Amino acid sequence: MTRSKTFLSFILGSTMMTACASVTPDVAEATDPVEVAGDASADAEAAPVVAAWSPGDAFAGPYGGVPAFDKMDIALIEPALEKGMAAQKVEIDAITANPDAPTFENTIAAMEDTGRELDRVLTYYYLWGSNLSTPEFREIETRMDPEIQAFYDSINQNQALFARVDAVRTGAEYETLTPVQQRLTEIIHQRFTRNGGTLTGEKAEKFAEINKELAGLYAEFSGNLLADEEGWVTFLTPEQTGGLPDSYLSSAAAAAEALGKPGMYAVRNTRSSMDPFLTYSTERDLREQVWHNYYNRGDNGDAHDNNAIIARILKLRDERVALLGYDNYAAWRLEDRMAKTPERAFDLMLQVWKASIARVHEEVADMQALADEEGAGIKIEPWDYRFYAEKVRKAKYDLDSEEVKQYLQLDNLRLAMFDVAGQLFGFEFVPVTDGSVPVFHPDVTVYEVNDKATGRNVGLWYFDPFARDGKRSGAWATTYRSHESFRGEKNVLAANNSNFVKPAPGEPVLVSWDDAETMFHEFGHALHYLSLQVEYPSLTSGLRDYTEFQSQLLERWLPTDHVINTYLVSAETGEPMPAELVEKIRKASTFNQACDDGIPRLRPD
Ligand SMILES: [Zn+2]
Repeated sequence: MTRSKTFLSFILGSTMMTACASVTPDVAEATDPVEVAGDASADAEAAPVVAAWSPGDAFAGPYGGVPAFDKMDIALIEPALEKGMAAQKVEIDAITANPDAPTFENTIAAMEDTGRELDRVLTYYYLWGSNLSTPEFREIETRMDPEIQAFYDSINQNQALFARVDAVRTGAEYETLTPVQQRLTEIIHQRFTRNGGTLTGEKAEKFAEINKELAGLYAEFSGNLLADEEGWVTFLTPEQTGGLPDSYLSSAAAAAEALGKPGMYAVRNTRSSMDPFLTYSTERDLREQVWHNYYNRGDNGDAHDNNAIIARILKLRDERVALLGYDNYAAWRLEDRMAKTPERAFDLMLQVWKASIARVHEEVADMQALADEEGAGIKIEPWDYRFYAEKVRKAKYDLDSEEVKQYLQLDNLRLAMFDVAGQLFGFEFVPVTDGSVPVFHPDVTVYEVNDKATGRNVGLWYFDPFARDGKRSGAWATTYRSHESFRGEKNVLAANNSNFVKPAPGEPVLVSWDDAETMFHEFGHALHYLSLQVEYPSLTSGLRDYTEFQSQLLERWLPTDHVINTYLVSAETGEPMPAELVEKIRKASTFNQACDDGIPRLRPD
């Protein structure tokens, strides 16, 4: 799982919750219906009059309510955030103003029921940040992220609130609580102690000030990264396309056309566009250029340079945890993780470091030998790694990535994941009727997830597969609503997002073996969300170290006989992947594990 913003998760220690329970804030204002302009079609008919988008409202419609992704209006997000924060403040103030002695119910449980309006608004806000970003939205983010952080700090540092939480944690009632309630109390108590709740006076002010600055820096950092991904495109002439597969060229041609350069080929500055280019292009100078564009994101000494931001972030993180008495940021960060201490984390890393570096040298030596044999007359550089790794793979294992890709069709992989989820979890995935669930982009598809045995609706699964401007790199899973049973049973709205290059119309999406594994991995996170059975919202996320377990486990179902024989069929002939090719993939599975990018390789999270 990755999230576009980390501050909420480390401040709140939970995935972002959105829920349907209706909370009527005292600050609610009446919203007048407004006229919404129709689409670009030049119909003479009057545009329909519909209610304005109200992002804090309970999700309406089918499946326990769904986000109104079709009505999003960037002009309304900022006031909605302000209103949501004001509403949660009123709810928190009601808890601290309670004259009764603190109890689990009037303090801990009451806190769990606050901020639902704000959570709903944040669902849209974060979706914009990760899937639909624009320069205009990035300006809003840079302004609002610090405000949102300051708001959460005001809760985490609310002395009256912490006094009540502490009274529940240390009081006689604690022993009578259920284990789940005790765990929740413990988590909420830690949220205060780890995030400045025990600080007072100047130290408390300084802590909040640092957090606010950090939130602004994080927004700026990711905004710069995205700006450099959008801003640096390498356009190829037809003479510069040597080595590139047809499937890559047809999508690169479509991308260039969309960018106003018909007749050329666009290599976008994203992993999904850069990676195959570096693997196949025979144009070494262009490989160098594309490599630099990608690895220098945020490092070009221009308006989007992140160097000073990184240095400032590191300094502020240290300063912040020093206020809490920690030696350094790593000590604070690792305290509640399996590693526990920076020393143990370093030990673990150093155990693999030497072996990884040695392996990199071996792999580069293989590449160099092959280049020498070819009479290439070059010294292997980082922009040659993928290109020669592919050649070494062919030479050593007789394995051709393009040949493998023919058997990895995105639609079939999705069906394979559904099949596996059906067998392992008893889930059934059914496409929703067209148009019944609003989506934020025409590429997004939505599926009902039902329990096969009982027919009960578990929730919905949204899938946003393709790369586009404004969408951050990589693959990730998220929720728009998580399970809880605390104030009534909630079904789950889970989502998977990836960045496959959109094919030319009518062509299948063919993906690499790595990308197929990543899809299974991220779908594992979605299945985790869909399988949750939790009472209280704060208990949905689980421990950070555990979060990767189920997703890494699900990757193992990709190379199973059932999936291979049923779903990995050739896009050209419809024949299943031959046993011989499967065997080659298995044999080559540890190949180039060290050298991808020239740095020891870690799984994406
Ligand atoms: Zn993961």
